[in-house]
Amino acid sequence: MPFFFLASAQNDDSIFISRIAREILVNGKAYEDLRVLTKTIGGRLSGSPQMVKAEQWGLKTLQALHPDNAWLQECMVPHWVRGGKDQATASYNNGKPGQKIKKSLDVLALGNSLGSGGKVVSAEVMEVKSFQELEARKNEVKGKIVFYNYPFNPTFIRTFEAYGDAVGYRGAGASMAAKYGGRAAIVRSMSESTDNNPHTGGLHYDSNYAKLPAVAIGLQDADWLSEQIKKGKVVVDLTTNGHFLPDTIGHNVIAEIRGSQFPDQYITIGGHLDSWDPAEGAHDDGTGIVQTIEVLRVLRALGYKPKHSIRFVLFANEENGLRGGNKYAEEAKARGEKHILALESDEGGFTPRGFGFSGSEAQYQKVLSWQPLLCPYGGCEIIVGGGGSDIGPLARTQQTPLAGYMPDSQRYFDLHHARNDVFEAVNKRELELGAVNMAAFVYLVDKYGL
Ligand SMILES: [Zn+2]
Repeated sequence: MPFFFLASAQNDDSIFISRIAREILVNGKAYEDLRVLTKTIGGRLSGSPQMVKAEQWGLKTLQALHPDNAWLQECMVPHWVRGGKDQATASYNNGKPGQKIKKSLDVLALGNSLGSGGKVVSAEVMEVKSFQELEARKNEVKGKIVFYNYPFNPTFIRTFEAYGDAVGYRGAGASMAAKYGGRAAIVRSMSESTDNNPHTGGLHYDSNYAKLPAVAIGLQDADWLSEQIKKGKVVVDLTTNGHFLPDTIGHNVIAEIRGSQFPDQYITIGGHLDSWDPAEGAHDDGTGIVQTIEVLRVLRALGYKPKHSIRFVLFANEENGLRGGNKYAEEAKARGEKHILALESDEGGFTPRGFGFSGSEAQYQKVLSWQPLLCPYGGCEIIVGGGGSDIGPLARTQQTPLAGYMPDSQRYFDLHHARNDVFEAVNKRELELGAVNMAAFVYLVDKYGL
């Protein structure tokens, strides 16, 4: 292919992408959609009445954009409820026997954790910095509350790496404490925030051990607790109320525009509609939801006729079960739908940085060649490795290449799964520029394939 031909193709693409950008930045609906989702529905954990409302809102909002099809895809979802207020009070004496000082700690029960059964767990707190330290001191654990004080590693520039490094304490800490006779677990929040908000998130019990109450603690309180333990014994009274109701019906909300040349080949783009209960689920993952809807809106507004069929999916139950993502991949496989790419936005609605990509080397090189087209809108970094929890099952069942929209990550864990993940924390321009990059990416994959 002569150079001028390539150059003119690139020019056509840059013109079309500039039209995408103009339409989103001038007429965008993502911010207003986000306001409705967060302020009129709010937190929407699987099984909650808010999640039912969110599904109905999602379907109605997608249908209003006149896709070729829109429907609800049923899947059973777990139904965990917090069950009441989580409370923790520390008692200590500052080295003066007979004195008893009390301090209330800001905690949130971890998702999927079982409560203290209507009683108060009252026990001495034992701090460990790691699972290795827990192993080394396992004989001291019996009867105590184990406090995992493992901080985010500040030297990771991409904060998701620090999250990946630390999150095992949230996931497995309670069962590891139970293994050695502990009575509960307190986990340093998965955050580097300077405020004191605790950050919840799912845990997984090992069925071999007792299912202990487990909470996340805010970072200021975590640092205080650590300092206090250095001075002497600290007892914590802990009350949590989490429990499971029977599994219930949830739905992925799906819209589709049919491809003109390859209608049986699919590009899926999405985020997850469910969110943790203490907040509004704005950055996690309301922004991914409204960006997904905005991509449909802009393609319709510009009269774009895709070659491949494009699916817009608001996934169910990412946070505490992944049943939506699993169901979607299962049905795609059962129907023999070939997915050529899946793209997820689930890293917040901050300023665009680029995309993470998981596929073959040749596919990666192709995506990398689009960098000059994405870069003017902030999406300059095209890195190896990326995707999203909800689309992961497609890669496992049919080796679908995955892409993850990658915004700036520095502020995400200040609010991830915490009460400050609210609408006000989202910037309209940043949100919209994310949608511009996602729409451009989908357009390029549709036009050139992978
Ligand atoms: Zn998420």
